[in-house]
Amino acid sequence: MTHCIFCRIASGEIPSTVVYDDEHVVAFRDLNPHAPTHVLVVPRKHIATLNDLVPEDAELVGRMYLAAREVAHIDGVAESGYRTVFNCNADAGQTVFHLHMHVLGGRSMVWPPG
Ligand code: 5GP
Ligand code: ZN
Repeated sequence: MTHCIFCRIASGEIPSTVVYDDEHVVAFRDLNPHAPTHVLVVPRKHIATLNDLVPEDAELVGRMYLAAREVAHIDGVAESGYRTVFNCNADAGQTVFHLHMHVLGGRSMVWPPG
């Protein structure tokens, strides 16, 4: 049994509010949302951080962006706008070490991020 929380969410062992899923990725609502739309897109495959990607993961990362696009359409923020973020390691504030993309939308955001 894995102790990785996002592996357990992806397998359905831990409940979450799934917005979109397919054979390769799962998108579910963040438990502590920072915007009206705050969805996490994760690969079903366990990858700890962006640093651990290998060239064979290129298609998988593309699928994560396609899932973000689906989420934006589902939540109705595709035209108003949204942000996609990968946090990698301590300085970026990564707290869960299973690769995930934040999809944030439904309010205007500042740039640069804090
Ligand atoms: P990070 O800080 O690693 O980029 O983002 C991890 C995100 O996962 C945080 O926004 C946090 O709220 C979310 N999160 C942590 N544990 C859970 C959980 O059990 N369920 C859900 N839905 N989100 C979680
Ligand atoms: Zn995992």
